Amino acid sequence: MVFDIITIFPELFPPYLNESLLKHAQKKGLLDFRVHNLRDYAPGKHHVVDDRPYGGGPGMILRADIMIRCLETVTGYGLRVTKKTSPHSSLVTRNSRTRTRVIALDPAGKQLTQAMAKRLTTYDQLVLLCGRYEGFDERVYKFADEKISIGPYVLLGGELPALVVIDAVSRMIPGVVGDPESIVNETHSTEGYVEYPQYTRPEAIRVQGMGYRGKKKLNPRTLTVPNVLLSGDHKKIEQWRKKYARHK
Ligand code: SAM
Repeated sequence: MVFDIITIFPELFPPYLNESLLKHAQKKGLLDFRVHNLRDYAPGKHHVVDDRPYGGGPGMILRADIMIRCLETVTGYGLRVTKKTSPHSSLVTRNSRTRTRVIALDPAGKQLTQAMAKRLTTYDQLVLLCGRYEGFDERVYKFADEKISIGPYVLLGGELPALVVIDAVSRMIPGVVGDPESIVNETHSTEGYVEYPQYTRPEAIRVQGMGYRGKKKLNPRTLTVPNVLLSGDHKKIEQWRKKYARHK
């Protein structure tokens, strides 16, 4: 899968994308990340990408003409507005067999879920539009297939949301996570499911008193592992895990 990221802060991406499993997945040819600097598509010496809002008001707005020029290049075959339905629907036809999805990161978008991330793995190319300042000129949304929010709060820009989408989608592409079992029966894999508790070595951890947590005093003690997990009895372990996995 190819991720095209359009941003005015391209340098924020490589440190995260070129580490760990995402780095290995690129080497294996499973993922390709292309980061595009929106300023490269802005005219003039200063490559200005924003302007004041019509009608007045605080802050600056990302210009639609520059974003559209960039999108035309990134999607590789131009975009045509066909017919107007609603201001937020996709009005784009693409003459390509590539399954492309253009996503505007937006705090007012549909909140990202595991099911959405899974659905997005069915595309060949995801184009992620990162807003900044007061956001996009509304006309940008004519070229977005969907708006995604990563939660009900407002961040400074779309770069962290883009990385969150990339991370959530990438790990569900076969081969990205080493053991395919890891992404089966994990939290959110079905609605409301919360994975059972997990432990690793050492078997016992002696801790000193850690003062107070609120009004509760944390005395010195030994933290152990449930016996059943050390028993080697796979049937019992399975039952224990079923018991302690939760459905919210
Ligand atoms: N004025 C906008 C509003 O009230 O909806 C907020 C703009 S925000 C400061 C700038 C950009 O950050 C947005 O265009 C979007 O790309 C990104 N952003 C901020 N919070 C986000 C969130 N929760 N989910 C996805 N993107 C977000």
